[in-house]
Amino acid sequence: MGFKANARKRRNAASAAAGSEKKEDEEYVGEIKCDVAGCENWADKKVGGRKLAFDRAAEVWGESGLTKDSKRVTVCKSCYRAWKKAKKDEPTEWT
Ligand SMILES: [Zn+2]
Repeated sequence: MGFKANARKRRNAASAAAGSEKKEDEEYVGEIKCDVAGCENWADKKVGGRKLAFDRAAEVWGESGLTKDSKRVTVCKSCYRAWKKAKKDEPTEWT
């Protein structure tokens, strides 16, 4: 008795030492920043960034909620998801 418990303890220590520290995703450095005010994410196509017409984006974040004042804004993946969700919740029967 006790032997098995000790063995398990040792194995746990070993796997911890093997480095669960290993970082899979290194910090990505992109080129395009998300145009949503206060958002620090990258909006490169590579990481799921999307382009939206300014007006469409302003419907969700408001004109002051966007850092760019051009016809098109670029948003990161998570902002795009939020945008899509906001648009989905909105009744669009007016067309
Ligand atoms: Zn964003």
